[in-house]
Amino acid sequence: MDHFWMPFTANRAFKAAPRIIERAEGMWLYSDDGRKILDATGGLWCVNAGHGRQKIADAIAQQAMKLDYSSPFNLGHDIGFEFAERLVKYTPENLNRVFFTNSGSEAVESALKIALAYQNARGKKGKYRFIGREKAYHGVNFGGISVGGLTYNRKGFGPLLPVDHLPHTLDLKRNAFSKGLPEQGIERADELENLLQFHDPDSIAAVIVEPVSGAGGVILPPIGYLKKLRELCTKHDVLLIFDEVITGWGRLGASFASNRFEVEPDMITSAKGITNGTVPLGAVFVRDEICDTVINAGAEGAIEFFHGYTYSAHPIACAAGLATMDIYDEEGLLERASGEIGDYWQSSLHSLNGEPGIVDVRNYGLIGAVQFAAPDGSLVGSKIMQRCYEKGMSVRAVGDIIAFSPPLTIEKAHIDQIVETLSSIAREMFAR
Ligand code: PMP
Repeated sequence: MDHFWMPFTANRAFKAAPRIIERAEGMWLYSDDGRKILDATGGLWCVNAGHGRQKIADAIAQQAMKLDYSSPFNLGHDIGFEFAERLVKYTPENLNRVFFTNSGSEAVESALKIALAYQNARGKKGKYRFIGREKAYHGVNFGGISVGGLTYNRKGFGPLLPVDHLPHTLDLKRNAFSKGLPEQGIERADELENLLQFHDPDSIAAVIVEPVSGAGGVILPPIGYLKKLRELCTKHDVLLIFDEVITGWGRLGASFASNRFEVEPDMITSAKGITNGTVPLGAVFVRDEICDTVINAGAEGAIEFFHGYTYSAHPIACAAGLATMDIYDEEGLLERASGEIGDYWQSSLHSLNGEPGIVDVRNYGLIGAVQFAAPDGSLVGSKIMQRCYEKGMSVRAVGDIIAFSPPLTIEKAHIDQIVETLSSIAREMFAR
């Protein structure tokens, strides 16, 4: 413990009271002190098919003995091609090219660079600026924190890229306790027109948003909002990137939010559920014409887009991903959240409306958030998260919000446990 500088962790506090997970199976984590903990966040929004899937473990083991690694420099391997071909069966109609990375953060950086490479390749070098959104999380690398809109993720790392931010769409005054997409707020998309005019659309390469903000506190798009962004980007010849690192792979009841909301972006970033969280892998799904334009602009024999990673399309990650897709298909997991279990999730979570301290409940598919009343700086989210863990449930706190993204294999009894745990904590902490 003295040697591992832990990420996203209060290292000093952790050493004083370490929490160690020894193994995991299905919906459950097992700690070193013999406790069974409900994994209400599917790892970190990634274990969509539940823990300990034999099929994925077998695929990983077999691939490790067949081809464990090969260089990305002008060498290919069948499993990479097979996985790319399989993946585009789930993407929107015109996004049929896959650029592989190792993580969501790298997928974001790659998408931003692809946007610039595309604008250059078609002679629009002046289009170099990006537009992001407040409260957005796009990973932790420099492009991602620049387009991202979370203060704690940006503070202390400037100066960053020249980026403007759309307003976020959280509006408790008008939309608290909305079931599914909120009705009010489409006009927040109009700010895109203002920003584009302010800078001149000819200087903007791309707009990037999460269809549903995850790490910013599960913020849903108002009805019609994403379509409006698409219309404005098309009108002004600006690329639209959807960061679907969380919203992909069944979280909202379809393969991607783009499909569920019927809005086709120019690129989608993906990671996490793409391998059920087992082996690091990310991807950018790219509109065919973007890829063709970049590839065709290069001189014959030259590398057209000098970008990639040692582990891009790692054979073992691709094997894990193919087995993950098999499980999603065989068990109907990508659509499961849009059926009965999603309805049960919605009604159960909203039964918390009226419990002490709770100021909002938000949900869509199998994602959800419960927001608590909290004076600034009270760390109420961390305290609730800690209490949840003590009561046998792992959740994610974002400020005063408790976020949920359980494995899509969740059953009603698990949902009951989530709601009962939270309501007992609300009464314990907030009842007068
Ligand atoms: N984009 C979004 C929307 C995310 O939620 C995350 C991770 N939570 C990332 C990017 C970064 O992914 P990674 O941690 O794999 O780099």
